[in-house]
Amino acid sequence: MRFRSVFRASKVGIQRHSQLQRLQRSHSQHQSQSARPSFGIAFDIDGVILRGHDPIGGSPQALRRLYNDDGTLKIPYLFLTNGGGVPESARAVELSGLLGVKILAQQILQGHSPFRRLVQRFENDLIVAAGKGEPAQVMSEYGFKKVLSIDEYASYFDDIDPLSSYKAWKVEQAYRIDEDSKKSQPRYDVHSEIVKGVFVVSDPVDWGRDIQVLCDILGFGGLPVKGRGHQQPPLFFASDDLEYQAKFPSERLGMGAFRIALESVFNRTHDDPLEYTSFGKPNPFVFENAEATLKQFLLNIHHNQLTTNEAQAHSFSKIYMIGDNPSVDIKGAREAGHPWFSVLTKTGVFKGGEDNHPDHPADLVVDTVEEAVDYILRREC
Ligand SMILES: [Mg+2]
Repeated sequence: MRFRSVFRASKVGIQRHSQLQRLQRSHSQHQSQSARPSFGIAFDIDGVILRGHDPIGGSPQALRRLYNDDGTLKIPYLFLTNGGGVPESARAVELSGLLGVKILAQQILQGHSPFRRLVQRFENDLIVAAGKGEPAQVMSEYGFKKVLSIDEYASYFDDIDPLSSYKAWKVEQAYRIDEDSKKSQPRYDVHSEIVKGVFVVSDPVDWGRDIQVLCDILGFGGLPVKGRGHQQPPLFFASDDLEYQAKFPSERLGMGAFRIALESVFNRTHDDPLEYTSFGKPNPFVFENAEATLKQFLLNIHHNQLTTNEAQAHSFSKIYMIGDNPSVDIKGAREAGHPWFSVLTKTGVFKGGEDNHPDHPADLVVDTVEEAVDYILRREC
C-alpha cells in the first residue's frame, strides 16, 4: 500500500559509533538491561484521557506514575490519537497544561502525523488542507511549502458556496487582506494553478461547503471549474473514525462519517468513483510507527547506555494500547499483533453494558485509564 512504502523510505538512518564508546557502554549495558522497561504504553486521548478538555478516569494521577520523582520519564509512553487539527508541539503544550505532566511533541502521534512522510511528494505543489483548527499550519510545519486551508481557498472563488449568505458565522480571515481594496489577495494563482493534493487534516467544520468545494476540486482535475480536466488529485484522510466520544453523552460523528458523505455525493455526481487513502487507527501502519517511536523514548530514558540502533533493535515484550473505541483502538491493536496488548476503558465509546465487545474483544477491560495503568504497573514492575 502507498503509505507503507512512504514509511519505509523514511526510516531512521544508521549511526556510527566509535569502538571506544561501545567498550564504555558494554560495561554498563549488562547492569542497565534488567532495569530497562520491556513494555511501553500508547494512550488514546478522547474518551480515555479527556472528554472535551476535561481530564477523565483519573488520567492526571495515572500519568504521573510514569515519571520519576525528578520529573524524568520512567516508562516509555505516547499518545496515539486519531484526533488533530493543531501541530504536535501545540498539542503537547495543551496536554501538559491539562494533565500536569511535561509532555513532549514527540510523544504525540495524531491522525495527521503520517502526512509528514508525504512532504517529498508534494513539497512544492499547491495543496488544500481541510478541517477544524489550523490545518494549513499543521501542513506547513511538516514542510509542505504551498498550502491553503479550504477556508482560504474557497474565499477566492465568488459564489462557490451558494449558501454562505445564510450562515450566521464568519470564517476568521487569518490570511492576508489587501488594505486598499479590502479584498483578499491569493498568495498563489488559484484560478489557474492546479491543486495537486487534498488533505483532510481534522474534522471538517462546514460539511456542506466542504463537500461542495472538494467535489469541485476532485471532480474537475484540481481546479473548481468544469472543463479543465478529470484526473482526480490524490485525497488523504487523517483517520476514518465513524464516531468518537466528545463531551456530549452520546457519540459524535467523526471524519469517517464525513468521508462517507463526501464519497456518496461524489460517486453520485461523477462517473469515476472517489479514490482516497485513510490513515489513523486501526491501520496497522500506525501501530508499527508507534512502536518505532516508543523505542526512541528508550534513548531518552537510557541515553548513556543505548545507541539509536540498539533502541530500534530492542523488542518490547508488551505495548499496551489503552483505548475506548473497540472498532478503532482495540481492532487496531489486535490486528497489529505482538507485542500489542489491548485495554478497553468504559469511559468513552464503549459504555460497558457488556463485559467485553462482541466483535472486537479486548485483552483486558477496565473502568478507567487509572485502573489500566495500575494493572500494567502491578504486572510489569
Ligand atoms: Mg477515543
